[in-house]
Amino acid sequence: MGPVWRLIRGQKDVCHRCGREIVDFPAVGRGVDFQFRPVEKYCWDCYRYLQPFVDEIASEAQDPYQPVTKPAIP
Ligand SMILES: [Zn+2]
Repeated sequence: MGPVWRLIRGQKDVCHRCGREIVDFPAVGRGVDFQFRPVEKYCWDCYRYLQPFVDEIASEAQDPYQPVTKPAIP
């Protein structure tokens, strides 16, 4: 299975690109044994910046790129 984007919720982490702290964030990774293993995690600003290049990041993806949407802030 190729790289896929997932929305990660409720996990504190750090943006792979700018180092900002992130909680609900998009991550690109691989599905392994029906579990998602994130490889790179981004804040929403970096995700927006990277979107035009997502095809390169996820070039092996079998499914077309599926954008993830920023969750509404409660
Ligand atoms: Zn960032």
